[in-house]
Amino acid sequence: MSQRIKTAIAGSLPKPAWLAEPEKLWAPWHLSGVQLEQAKHDAMRLAVDDQLRAGITVIGDGEQTRQHFVTTFIESLSGVDFVNRKTVRIRNRYDAAVPVVVDAVTRKKSVFVEDAKKLRALTKGLIKFTLPGPMTMVDTLYDDYYKSRAKLAWAFAEILNQEAKELASVGVDIIQFDEPAFNVFFDEVKDWGVKTLEHAAKDLGCKSAVHICYGYGIEANIKWKNGLGEEWRQYEQVFPLLAKSSIDQVSLECINSRVPMELIALLKGKDVLVGAIDVANNQIETPEQVANVLRQAAKYADVKHIYGCTNCGMVPLAREVALAKLHALAAGADLFSQEIGLK
Ligand SMILES: [Zn+2]
Repeated sequence: MSQRIKTAIAGSLPKPAWLAEPEKLWAPWHLSGVQLEQAKHDAMRLAVDDQLRAGITVIGDGEQTRQHFVTTFIESLSGVDFVNRKTVRIRNRYDAAVPVVVDAVTRKKSVFVEDAKKLRALTKGLIKFTLPGPMTMVDTLYDDYYKSRAKLAWAFAEILNQEAKELASVGVDIIQFDEPAFNVFFDEVKDWGVKTLEHAAKDLGCKSAVHICYGYGIEANIKWKNGLGEEWRQYEQVFPLLAKSSIDQVSLECINSRVPMELIALLKGKDVLVGAIDVANNQIETPEQVANVLRQAAKYADVKHIYGCTNCGMVPLAREVALAKLHALAAGADLFSQEIGLK
């Protein structure tokens, strides 16, 4: 097997225009019933094909079957009322009318296992499947039942662990939990966040990953980022805890951010999925720009632990932009691999 630097996407890719409205979060589906189910899986095949043709080495489903990375999972659980919503502040940044936890949350059946089987059938290579992290799930809801963010998160971790074990059993190689909330609620991360995440990832029999970012390029996030100062040192609080945890991989934001690269050194021993593709602009990175990010990262982590990745999901981008960025990511990783004699 080739020893070159591996590449992966953080999670989502844009959906085809016949499936959902393009360049929009929470875009409504254009189809329904059996047609919708078929169309979602057709879109997944295209997403996989795009990654393979670009030369990406860890393949995801591009989240083609989900409307949103958190809510689609929660919709499959019982105990949450999606009709009578309440307004809360999400990640201390923006208000949204969110579903309400009204009873004990449970998973009646598997949520993504059929999707994972389909993804498994599409490539013999490594596959990654993403799930929302417990803290981020809590931060997307109003809780009228547990009255404790930690308790609700633990209940979600139990559910996520059941789901993740099932995904691993059908051949998923890496299960990634998305925890953008880890970049905001540092006391909670320390008190119960990492512990709860580890519980979600317990005894999977495959690798586990966590993705922590500064969010999509939406207005509320851009405003928040502008107020974070010259250097973004949020990861400094979280990485030492993750380094001590059972989580195998950490996906983080790098290119065009103000994250000091040296913070990667805090993740000693972990695989580092280095964000070398900006998802908040339409400019296509050159392979040299991607290689340069990986080169900088290699000053602080062993190259055997470095993966080239995107800063975050690419769902809000135009399809052709995302595709060009996939090619740039793979080409940049190849360039750096050659440079250090891995190819
Ligand atoms: Zn992200």
